[in-house]
This record gives sequence, structure tokens and C-alpha cells, in this order.
Amino acid sequence: MKAILTDITKCIGCSECVVACKAYHELQEDIPRHWHRNDGLSAYNWTAIIHKEGPHYIRKQCRHCLEPACVSACPVAALVTTDEGAVIYKPEKCIGCRYCMVACPYGIPRYDWEHAVPYIQKCNLCHDRISQGKQPACTEACPTQATIFGERDELLAEAHRRITAEPGKYIDHVFGEFEVGGTSVLYISDIDLGFLTYPVKSGDKVLPKTTAPAMSAVPPAFFGMGAVMGGLYWFCKRRERLQNEKKNEEADS
Ligand code: SF4
Ligand code: SF4
Ligand code: SF4
Repeated sequence: MKAILTDITKCIGCSECVVACKAYHELQEDIPRHWHRNDGLSAYNWTAIIHKEGPHYIRKQCRHCLEPACVSACPVAALVTTDEGAVIYKPEKCIGCRYCMVACPYGIPRYDWEHAVPYIQKCNLCHDRISQGKQPACTEACPTQATIFGERDELLAEAHRRITAEPGKYIDHVFGEFEVGGTSVLYISDIDLGFLTYPVKSGDKVLPKTTAPAMSAVPPAFFGMGAVMGGLYWFCKRRERLQNEKKNEEADS
């Protein structure tokens, strides 16, 4: 089981990890929307640096939960776990229902407003790279090794070793060791990182035990919503194209 350990005390806020992620995944320039949450994540920013007083720089990304709420909430298995620990998205299956966005305790999946498909975007732990024995683009790019990649159990041991070696420097807690059943993205820090959990602290309880019964109550008619939304998107785009063509014709005549 692979993981990332981010040590907040080592991060200098250079954003090399953000740049590397965008470059590797060929993510386009972000288009700010007034309804975006103010944390820097979007369909085209899969990781972001949050600034806090100190200064402190906190890298936000998908936590790759060991028992992900997004996976259990998805009615069509468009989000799946992998042996490596990455939680990955299968756009060909997605119907755009956004249940994963509601279910995620960390507020990670983001809707792609620019394209008809794929609907949802998020960090995939560079699954293609790690399944070939490489490390993620972001950890490779970090100049201070504030964010490192490895086996989850070894990174947990390293995290506890650092905390024990400098007890006055770190909070005595590895964020992600147990929360919501544990995550593959871990943090150690000198400030509380509870604010990364959205919208409220959810403790160590495994969330799929809550989301799975809820999903079984969803009426089958709901699954037609994806097709309806797709049809609406196609209709709006077609109308926009026809209006533009008409305007161009009028300008030419
Ligand atoms: S952080 Fe959210 S999107 Fe990422 S695996 Fe966990 S539930 Fe899914
Ligand atoms: S693990 Fe890969 S996809 Fe996730 S933030 Fe890092 S570079 Fe981006
Ligand atoms: S590359 Fe490393 S030091 Fe720079 S912002 Fe990212 S985690 Fe922090």
C-alpha cells in the first residue's frame, strides 16, 4: 500500500508540486468561478497550497481514503480503490450525479464545468506512475522533501519517528492514520489540520458504513438523471453554436 507523507513544517510554499501535477496531467488553465470553494482546488487544480498564518503552507489533495466514502456513494462504480492505495476515477462510467462530491469528508472531487465529460476531476495519486514503480509527479518535484512518497507503513513509522525526535516541534498526531478509517495521504504538522476536513470533523468512523445504506435507498429513476443532464448540456452547447454561426453570417453579409 503506497502513500504520501507531507510534513507541513518543511513546506516553503513554492508550489512546485502544483506546477508538476498540472504539467504531468496536462491540466488546462483554471477558470475561476464565484461558486468555487476558496481552497485552490478545481477540476484543473488537483493539488493546491493553502496559506495560514505563521506562515504555514498546507498542500491539499485527495486523501485516498482506505475506505472511501466517494467510492461507496457512487451508484455506478465510477470511483474505485486500487491495490496501490490510489482511489481512481473512471470517466467512462460516470453519470455526473455528484454524489461523490457530497460524500467526501474532505471536499475533494470537483465538477468539470467546461466539458460534457468527464464530469468529476481529482488527484489520482498518479496511478499510472506508481503502478510502474515511479513516484507521483508532485513528490518528485518537491525541493525540500516536504512531501514524500513510499510504503504507507514505512511513512507512518517515519512520521512517528519525527514526532518522537522533536516533540516540541510537532503536534503528537499523524493526520490520516486513523481518521475516517485511515488515508493514504498523511500529514504531520505544528498546527491543527482539522480544517482540511469538510464540513465537520468526522472522527475515525469509517464513512462507507453510513453512505452505503443511504445509497441503497436511492430510487432507480435517479440513474436516468445522468442521461438527462447530458442531453441538456448537448442542447445548450448546440444552441450556443447555432447562435454564434448566425452572428458570424450576419457580420459577413
Ligand atoms: S478524500 Fe474524498 S475523494 Fe479522496 S478518496 Fe477520500 S472520499 Fe474519495
Ligand atoms: S499524486 Fe499525482 S495527481 Fe495527485 S496531486 Fe500529486 S501529481 Fe497530482
Ligand atoms: S513543492 Fe514541496 S515545498 Fe513546494 S509547495 Fe509543494 S510541498 Fe511545499
